[in-house]
Amino acid sequence: MKTKKQNADFLHVGVKLLAWYKIHGRDLPFRNTKDPYKIWICEIIFQQTRIEQGLNHYNSFIKRFPDVETLANAENDEVLLYWKGLGYYSRAINLHIAAKQIVENFGGKFPENYDDILNLKGVGKYTAAAISSICFGKAIPAVDGNFYRVLSRVFADDFDVSSPKAFAYFSELVLKMMPENEAGYFNEAMMDLGSAICKPRNPECEICPLNKDCLAFNLGLVQNFPVKTKKTKPTDLELIYYFVEFNGDFLIRQRKEDFIWKRLFEFPTEIPAAFEEFIIHHKTVLHKLTHKNLTVQMYRVQPDSESVFRSFAEQGAFSIVNVEEFHRKSFPKPLENYVNSIF
Ligand code: SF4
Repeated sequence: MKTKKQNADFLHVGVKLLAWYKIHGRDLPFRNTKDPYKIWICEIIFQQTRIEQGLNHYNSFIKRFPDVETLANAENDEVLLYWKGLGYYSRAINLHIAAKQIVENFGGKFPENYDDILNLKGVGKYTAAAISSICFGKAIPAVDGNFYRVLSRVFADDFDVSSPKAFAYFSELVLKMMPENEAGYFNEAMMDLGSAICKPRNPECEICPLNKDCLAFNLGLVQNFPVKTKKTKPTDLELIYYFVEFNGDFLIRQRKEDFIWKRLFEFPTEIPAAFEEFIIHHKTVLHKLTHKNLTVQMYRVQPDSESVFRSFAEQGAFSIVNVEEFHRKSFPKPLENYVNSIF
């Protein structure tokens, strides 16, 4: 199969893709700018969030933090709050750290050099390539899962996309297709085709601009590509939380551990043995993270007096909040859902 791609005219396919993009590319707010700050924010937000879901978040994030300096000077909690609803909070933490790096190391001006961009906290090769090509016109392919999928199909290429060598392999292939001086548009075109037409499931081959050249489509083998051999098996993890409340107030604290949900807020994870008599309800919540299947045991605890409630808060250095204050902080999704189910 690997040899079939020699029949295709790489550049011809790239030119076709670009022509399609110039007419059908999505008109998104960050498409009308070459401001590297905005492109960076959008790349990070849309890494794990669909455009339709993340657009309002992108707009409000940019409105509140319009430039690197504003973001760098913000409180971490506020950055997390503006990330609420997007999940994968480590992205927001890294954005904040990287904004500080830019202020400290580059005087607040976004670096232009690919390696400098790559050295920013939380920026991988894909994001660095997207910023370099879109904002600074560098001929660097922003290769991600969309590229792997489209290229594997167009060239009926059985190179294993889960291989550590996939990035280098597909980057080389893309460079052969990329029309000169059009790297930014080309990368955006590939993103749009991969997310709107050549989708992982049910690709819309009938309306695809590349269908005449696509080997997988013409051979009736679309479902065979991309080839992926390695599957990451999620691990199971059990967590216990105690929702300790009194008269609508409850206890929280900020997570510190460099593990899941770093820096988000949570409820107590243990209670004194004497508190067990105050447990009034128990619920098991199942929640999936990318590589973990969580089972969260939620216990609702109502101490019989305010002094008992407050002394536990003091001993455990917990903060006392009500539901309005709760909504001004960022919590893991299962905990947020739990509180919403109560109030
Ligand atoms: S023809 Fe189908 S499989 Fe081929 S690139 Fe287009 S959408 Fe993907």
